[in-house]
Amino acid sequence: MTLKLKNSLGGALEDFLSLEPRKVRMYHCGPTVNQPIHIGKFRSYLLADVLRRHLERSGYEVLQVMNLTDVGHLNEFEEDVVEIAAGRAGGYAWELAENEMRLFHADRRALGIRGAHEYPKAREHVEEMIETIRLLEEAGATYVEGGNLYLDITRYEKLGCLCGSTPAELAELQDGSKTTEGAQKRNPLDIDLWRTDELHQMRWESPWGSGFPGWHVECVAMSRKYLGEHFDIHTGADDNLNPHHEFEMAQAAVLAGEGDEREPLAHYWLHSGSVSVEGQAMSKSNGNIVPVRELLESGIRGRVVRVALLSEHYRDNLDFGEAALDKASEAVNVILGFRDHLSGQASAETRDPGGSAAGWITDTDAAFTAALDEDLDYWKAISVVVKALSSLEADTVGSPAQALDALGDWDRVLGIL
Ligand SMILES: [Zn+2]
Repeated sequence: MTLKLKNSLGGALEDFLSLEPRKVRMYHCGPTVNQPIHIGKFRSYLLADVLRRHLERSGYEVLQVMNLTDVGHLNEFEEDVVEIAAGRAGGYAWELAENEMRLFHADRRALGIRGAHEYPKAREHVEEMIETIRLLEEAGATYVEGGNLYLDITRYEKLGCLCGSTPAELAELQDGSKTTEGAQKRNPLDIDLWRTDELHQMRWESPWGSGFPGWHVECVAMSRKYLGEHFDIHTGADDNLNPHHEFEMAQAAVLAGEGDEREPLAHYWLHSGSVSVEGQAMSKSNGNIVPVRELLESGIRGRVVRVALLSEHYRDNLDFGEAALDKASEAVNVILGFRDHLSGQASAETRDPGGSAAGWITDTDAAFTAALDEDLDYWKAISVVVKALSSLEADTVGSPAQALDALGDWDRVLGIL
């Protein structure tokens, strides 16, 4: 079987083909580090984690990059969200950002999410961003208005191809969700490349004045630096799709120029679905945003949070709450109980390296791998293992050592033990 992935670009379930044999380069939109990271964002990092683990278990060598946004992410009032949070805390933006990054990694580890190979911070890559913007300028796609530099979106004809909307529909969405106060764009969909601001805490000198880069150019510059102009997979949460990923593609297309037939930036684009809490959409206005840290501090085990956030297919809406946590807890307990029960027996056992695996291991392994190959169906995969373990009797386990080895191998993707 080969791995199939639902590509947001085109919407089809496609056979995965890496650009280089047995090697995968992938980029994930990481957190903006202004506050504790909530379960919706972590769900997208878990998608990235399961994807990497499954690719590695399938024999690929993976290079994984996730950015950390510490400057340039603006709210609806066009204020930098990190700077605003730092102001409220009475400190400096970079101090708050460093602290939130440290806490993000602590939460990530608690959920069994393996560390990416690179976590580029936006503020340490401003030189690369200025260079990327300079190339966009050279392509004749930018203009200055009100002291700020923008990308003229009409230079990208395929706008909307990722989220399946027309430019007119996108413009309407953009108008409805953002005030244009202070913004001087000719078109609401034009992309912020460089903002001049003499008072911004984190600011740099540039050919366009002292200021800071726009959020959408950051991921383009950093992915190009670590992964090259064109790589295998780009992932994010569904709220990154529009406009962030559309805008990343737009810039990459302008940089690639006419005649480049490849998809801008990445070949495959994957997005995790939205999260509701006990049946209600999770949002600031509903006041029900759940930071992962809060769950961990309340005593819920990290591995249970992990499995609960993966208890629906990554693309579907996940309703988070007691039911999801109970379901996850049950699965985790079966797996841990099995491991503990057999550990003592296995150490006493004389291993027989030539012995063939018990039938249940071979069958479970095939079903487990098939579930993950079908667009990373983690919940189906874990259910296959839990069902197999629950139905074993003492005399059907076979060799305890082999059973434990098999469980350890499945856990390379499950991330529970
Ligand atoms: Zn991004």
